[in-house]
Amino acid sequence: MPLGEFELIERYFRRPADAMCRQRGDVPLGIGDDAALLAPPAGQQLVAALDTLVEGRHFPAGSPPRSIGHRALAVNLSDLAAMGADPAWFLLAMTLPAADEVFLEEFVRGLLQLAAEHGVALVGGDTTAGPLAVSVQALGFVAPGEALQRAGARAGDLLYVSGTPGDAAAGLRLAMGEAAAPALDESQRRWLLDRFHFPAPRVALGRELRGIASACIDVSDGLADDAGKLAAASGSAVVLELERLPLSAALLAQAGTAGATHLALTGGDDYELCFTVPPARAGALAARLANVKCTATRIGRIEAGSGIMLLDHGAPTAQSFTGFDHFRSR
Ligand code: ADP
Ligand code: MG
Repeated sequence: MPLGEFELIERYFRRPADAMCRQRGDVPLGIGDDAALLAPPAGQQLVAALDTLVEGRHFPAGSPPRSIGHRALAVNLSDLAAMGADPAWFLLAMTLPAADEVFLEEFVRGLLQLAAEHGVALVGGDTTAGPLAVSVQALGFVAPGEALQRAGARAGDLLYVSGTPGDAAAGLRLAMGEAAAPALDESQRRWLLDRFHFPAPRVALGRELRGIASACIDVSDGLADDAGKLAAASGSAVVLELERLPLSAALLAQAGTAGATHLALTGGDDYELCFTVPPARAGALAARLANVKCTATRIGRIEAGSGIMLLDHGAPTAQSFTGFDHFRSR
């Protein structure tokens, strides 16, 4: 007999989510009633983000279900990280073609494994039948005045990016059937694929950037595009120094220097943080970075004006780049 909606929610969402709700101690009522009751800490601001993943649009049809679960939460934790928030809770809206238990088992494993890593609790959601799509709403906290925003960068601020952008885009291309280059070894191929399938939201870095970064954005649509959005929100121009881009050995093996640079600028799906720091706080940033596992590399600066300038060893270059835009790229 196919699994009914009540039993599906009970088995795949309520029971596995219960332990974290109890562990956090700020979920008086989780999954099972008409709505959840949540107890935010006094004096903190609530930070809310929601992102949807649609099959065939945000992940290829036939993606590993564990990756779909992981990414659905990761992209939202990345948004909270970019605000410098402490993530706490999330809600999940699932549209499923069928109550496929093999799919659900793996999906929930990917979802709740990442949730456990960050101590966030699944507190509610919605389950409907239809073409595969997953929405997550993530909720977190930040003290008033401490949130990182896109606006706030000033001329002279230094521009940084975490991790190694471009890997996820290369991983997606491999997942979609692009051939591995001869220079790419098996462990590098796996690594690029994992960077697309299992991005690590930079929550710890976002926390460390509170009081340090003047502006921050997460990189979902391509570094050049997202750095441009940060600069535009700050009423400034951004200069990217291409030779400073932190390109991974795997990306270089797969795409060569020019290809890797292009993917790092335009690829998207990185979920790294791109942020600015006033020069006077660069030393303090270095101290904070010692507390987190990921790297951050200076890749440029903010200037007066508007738009993006790309410099290659100091010389302006006309690399073409466009980020991902759902309504322009159809
Ligand atoms: P209602 O019809 O009152 O909206 P539902 O039957 O949709 O209630 O959901 C019952 C309970 O299960 C609610 O607490 C809801 O938040 C939770 N829930 C439903 N689907 C999910 C899901 N995919 N993930 C987490 N919780 C869910
Ligand atoms: Mg109801």
